[in-house]
Amino acid sequence: MPSSTRVLRIDAQTPDPALIAQAATVIRSGGLVAFPTETVYGLGANAWDAAAVDGIFRAKGRPASDPLIVHIAEMAQLSQVARDVPASACLLCRRFFPGALTLVLRKSARIPDNLCAGLDTVALRMPNHAVARALIQAAGRPIAAPSANTFSRPSPTSAEHVLDDLADNVDLLLDGGPTVIGVESTIVSLVEEPPRLLRPGGISLEALSALLPDLQYSPHFADDRADSLPAPGTLLKHYSPRARLLLFRGDDAAVYAAMRAEIAKHSRVGLLLLQRDAEQFHDLNMPIESLGRNSNQAAERLFAGLRALDKAGVAVILARAPEQGGLGLALHDRLLRAAVGEVIDARAML
Ligand code: AMP
Ligand code: MG
Repeated sequence: MPSSTRVLRIDAQTPDPALIAQAATVIRSGGLVAFPTETVYGLGANAWDAAAVDGIFRAKGRPASDPLIVHIAEMAQLSQVARDVPASACLLCRRFFPGALTLVLRKSARIPDNLCAGLDTVALRMPNHAVARALIQAAGRPIAAPSANTFSRPSPTSAEHVLDDLADNVDLLLDGGPTVIGVESTIVSLVEEPPRLLRPGGISLEALSALLPDLQYSPHFADDRADSLPAPGTLLKHYSPRARLLLFRGDDAAVYAAMRAEIAKHSRVGLLLLQRDAEQFHDLNMPIESLGRNSNQAAERLFAGLRALDKAGVAVILARAPEQGGLGLALHDRLLRAAVGEVIDARAML
């Protein structure tokens, strides 16, 4: 289907300045540009322009209560976005910027209220991707950008995913190929004492705790059917495929047996598993998306795998809860939200 979104292919390592200039013009004139970062594709707008920021919420169908992340290209831009920056932020910036870490800080007056969902705080990140950095620099202002997907769908890790969700709702798409990390940034709030990890992501809890020993993390999954408004980013249903996803917990034998029992119950089942687990099911004729051999590969392939199984038309996806160390913590968080909390404890079924 032809779309009105202009797509420009761009080199991910050495982007052509002429293409970047076209995209920067769209940003400066209040339009929307989807672009690659090292985590997932972002849907960008001028962070100083409330109307442009509003366009992001509309394009994604994102509730106004869910604030965006502001992206900067150099440390000099920090003071344009945040104020009262604590010493802990400088420590983290020196070690992890540019990279897959987002900091929640006090907001500067220059940032419009709708970007921050009316909060007095702002989320800020410096992406480690040549296209993203060049775009922010050429635009000459910070860029507000959530993931470039429809709200609650799996995040986009390729230009094709962006078009699948947002064709016609984006002015320009920079196609820099697949993203390398594949899950979103880790979000750390520095406006509370002690500091708190709000969302596990591309930078591990272990690496952050080495610098911030009092960093807290208590997973919280808000129910969107509840009356009260959940805290930003805590909705249980997120990153979800159209198919129902069941998440299995337990050791190998118990999980494989429970999965076979579930496969027998449904007609259109697909599997999303690490290669070693997927190999157990090769006798069956069903769509299988491999998550590769380790958590780095699993992060890179997770969202693409969910989308591929949706395209294959399965009704139920079976996945396995990963170990929660390193990147595994982010993988577990995304899978649990994709499953909307439907976890099967295979041990209990033996
Ligand atoms: P996305 O870029 O689509 O991954 O979404 C941005 C994430 O950052 C969401 O989970 C937001 O809830 C979170 N976020 C943005 N601003 C804030 C803030 N001021 N306080 C807490 N979380 C935030
Ligand atoms: Mg998102």
